[in-house]
Amino acid sequence: MTTRIAITGAAGRMGKALIEAAVAAGGADFTAAIVRPESSLIGADAGELAGLGKLGVALVGNLADVINDFDVLIDFTAPQATLDNIALCAQHGKQVVIGTTGFSEDEKQQLNKLADTAALCVASNFSTGVNLCFKLLDVAARVLSNGYDVEIVEAHHRHKVDSPSGTALRMGEVVANALDRDLGKVAVYGREGVIGVRDPQTIGFATVRGGDVVGDHTVSFMADGERIEITHKASSRLAFANGAVRAASWLQQRDSGLFDMQDVLELR
Ligand code: NAD
Repeated sequence: MTTRIAITGAAGRMGKALIEAAVAAGGADFTAAIVRPESSLIGADAGELAGLGKLGVALVGNLADVINDFDVLIDFTAPQATLDNIALCAQHGKQVVIGTTGFSEDEKQQLNKLADTAALCVASNFSTGVNLCFKLLDVAARVLSNGYDVEIVEAHHRHKVDSPSGTALRMGEVVANALDRDLGKVAVYGREGVIGVRDPQTIGFATVRGGDVVGDHTVSFMADGERIEITHKASSRLAFANGAVRAASWLQQRDSGLFDMQDVLELR
């Protein structure tokens, strides 16, 4: 079955990567692109915007104008815009893949409520590789539960303002859950000075910032005599976009509910 895909925030960094991924994917058809209502780009060809040449998909300023032209919406915009878009899609039986981050607790509750009537797939990182790493980390932590010190190092570009990355924190959570530890109690963020010997229960985080690094994460399990490292390196936003397009095709089969990439990749 071919999935007709619409993309909101089409002029954004992720929007352009999503257009590229949707056009390249088998089983997907890129049919609608939405920008802000006040955008000077309205009417322009979405393919040209993404540097792909003419695709015959004109940018529009309102999701409602193209509501009959797609099956699944992929939305990487901003929390309130995403909630409005989901509400409209829910009314019209459309599924939504949500990459937007930064939802407040109240907004997360609104999103959960919308999942009663619409099928939603939400992930703060849509990279297939990162989501596979979450599973690998769960397995590794269970096998290496005794005598292995766990440390997480992440690197990102110089513009990233938060630390550690949400993905590093999620990796820490996966390991802590597998080890039956509370990350809030065992996480150590950076070390300096005379820090004393390492508490074996702790999970350490270290952050590197610089250049144009899209996102590197390494989780090390270190024991006497051996060290296991699980590393993911993203070199392009296409890693996230390809995962989101894969999620769109998977989600088209669902009527309602809240899903994530572990569901899409059947890793539960
Ligand atoms: P961006 O600023 O380049 O693009 C955002 C786009 O959304 C812009 O085109 C903007 O016009 C549009 N937009 C914002 N508010 C809007 C509104 N109220 N109404 C209509 N359009 C609106 O940002 P980006 O780097 O593309 O990231 C977008 C979102 O995706 C962020 O929340 C970011 O954290 C998230 N993100 C998620 C993943 C993931 O894998 N889940 C990966 C990368 C980025």
